[in-house]
Amino acid sequence: MSEHVTICEVGPRDGLQIAKGIMPTEVKKRWITALAAAGLAEIEVGSFVSPKLIPQMADTGEIVRHAITLPGLTVVALAPNLRGAMAAYEAGAHRISIPVSVSMGHSRANLNRTPDEQIDEVARMVEWVAAQDRAMQIEASCSTAFGCSFDGHVEVSEVVRVTARLAAVGIQGLALADTVGYGHPALIKEVVHAVRGEIGPVLEGLHLHDTMGLGLANALAGIEAGIRNFDSALAGLGGCPFAPGASGNIVTEDLVFMLESMGFSTGTDLDKLIAARAPLREGLPNETMRGGVPQAGIPKTFLRAA
Ligand code: ZN
Repeated sequence: MSEHVTICEVGPRDGLQIAKGIMPTEVKKRWITALAAAGLAEIEVGSFVSPKLIPQMADTGEIVRHAITLPGLTVVALAPNLRGAMAAYEAGAHRISIPVSVSMGHSRANLNRTPDEQIDEVARMVEWVAAQDRAMQIEASCSTAFGCSFDGHVEVSEVVRVTARLAAVGIQGLALADTVGYGHPALIKEVVHAVRGEIGPVLEGLHLHDTMGLGLANALAGIEAGIRNFDSALAGLGGCPFAPGASGNIVTEDLVFMLESMGFSTGTDLDKLIAARAPLREGLPNETMRGGVPQAGIPKTFLRAA
């Protein structure tokens, strides 16, 4: 049996939030259904933020209610605050992902709070969720863990400090996010080792952007450092509104090709993943779609991991 790597598809959230168009709700539902049918076991389907700030996410409640009907799927929603957590719980999300910026500049721009104020909010969310009847997993996604478009260099010691505080307030899992895509393989390994030394297995995943073309190299560095959970987006959608010129997330199709070729099982079907680009194209006809494997075609040499 080959070792398993879990992929969380974040296209419907990270991808659509900065798209120029708004994907119609019915197409979004079909797209998410196609992603789940391709074997993706975790999908971040939207975010519970003000529709005035991000109109693309106004239908997240309806999208979550649809996604939880898909068998075997873990439905994740981004929730930046207690109000968002309550809405995610109400809609039936299985897990919330809470953004926590490590750098002051990104934290103020994205959340209008300091990192420590946001961790205090995370503590309130953990407490509220614990008091509810139904369990809902809580994970933190630590933005700008490998550099910031406002503050530049981010100290590894600061990443360790923020993640240690998050672990202390009781989150169940944590991902380190290269929000603006400034990371490189050696830095990925350095930060992963430092954070794991502090919080152990609470560190689960990496969320990588391909701004400098190093996305898959950084994912491989993560694999070598023991990471087995990755966020990625179909067609490499996504980006950060605070990183001008940044390209999107690592491409799910290419990540699956790399991992399966190396003998890691992902549970996904590459043909069906590529087919899931059709509803995306239908819903966002003007969006740039990336991906080496979809453009070249799956090579005859490709063997899925057993
Ligand atoms: Zn992102």
